[in-house]
Amino acid sequence: MDPVILQAENTLYQLSIYALMQGSNFFTSTLSIDNSNSPEGKSDEHPILLPSTITCVEFDVYLWFGVEYNNCPTQENLIDAILISRQWSIHNPYGYALDHFRRQFQESQIHPAVVLGVARQFGIPELIQPAVHALAKPQIPFSSWSTDTSILHHVTVIDIGVIGRMKEKLLHTHFALCSVPPVVHDAACRDKNHVVCLASWKDFWMSTMVPRLSNMDGKLDNLLWWIWTDCITNAHTPGMTNECMQWTINQVIAAPGWRTEMRIPEGALLALMVPACIMLDPMLERIPGPDLVS
Ligand SMILES: [Zn+2]
Repeated sequence: MDPVILQAENTLYQLSIYALMQGSNFFTSTLSIDNSNSPEGKSDEHPILLPSTITCVEFDVYLWFGVEYNNCPTQENLIDAILISRQWSIHNPYGYALDHFRRQFQESQIHPAVVLGVARQFGIPELIQPAVHALAKPQIPFSSWSTDTSILHHVTVIDIGVIGRMKEKLLHTHFALCSVPPVVHDAACRDKNHVVCLASWKDFWMSTMVPRLSNMDGKLDNLLWWIWTDCITNAHTPGMTNECMQWTINQVIAAPGWRTEMRIPEGALLALMVPACIMLDPMLERIPGPDLVS
């Protein structure tokens, strides 16, 4: 089909009629009228004038999400649309933009730091938790994004500071657990056995636990709670008395460090949470204009 020329404010748009009519009752009724003899919409000199209440930014938002809905909008399109639809309290484009933004984040097309910045800027608390938890994952090192200007553009100094501290604490927690915990000997374990017990325990810790504690690849079996569980069920300490092993393991698993991998992101989340920014109710937006009928 031929393109059609439209005008919003002082800007001309050349668009496909078919695309414009997709999902819009307004354009379907405006453009489906057979006016093949009318010059309207066929040249820059005779554009179809959009109602004066439709601004360019609003029309742009409509185009991104009405016309290009299936074309997978870019991250920047989506952020602009969230900004504009929030600013103008336009509900439908906001819903579209947020759905796409959430989906692209879930599909790892949008970096969690960008999601965090946008969610905090526009008051979307539901996205803050998944963004912080994604950033807490060991496989997303702080250094991989904290100097990337395309990401920094969307976050504040506070966002960076809180996430940076969170990552540092998480790293520290893993490495603090690497030092060999002291052996708790059973009363029956005599002097000579102490040495054997200690050597066996040290060997187990250094060869089995330390490689996993210092591995930050983010795989499930290198997460603290998994290592903690394995420590109880799979401790292999030949030469160590059963009693000594039990006493020692009981002490090790009671250490508070194991639970910090969950607590540290919760602390960051508290520091970064913002209240939801409320959109104007559609009814409130219809501020009555001056009564022109006199
Ligand atoms: Zn012992």
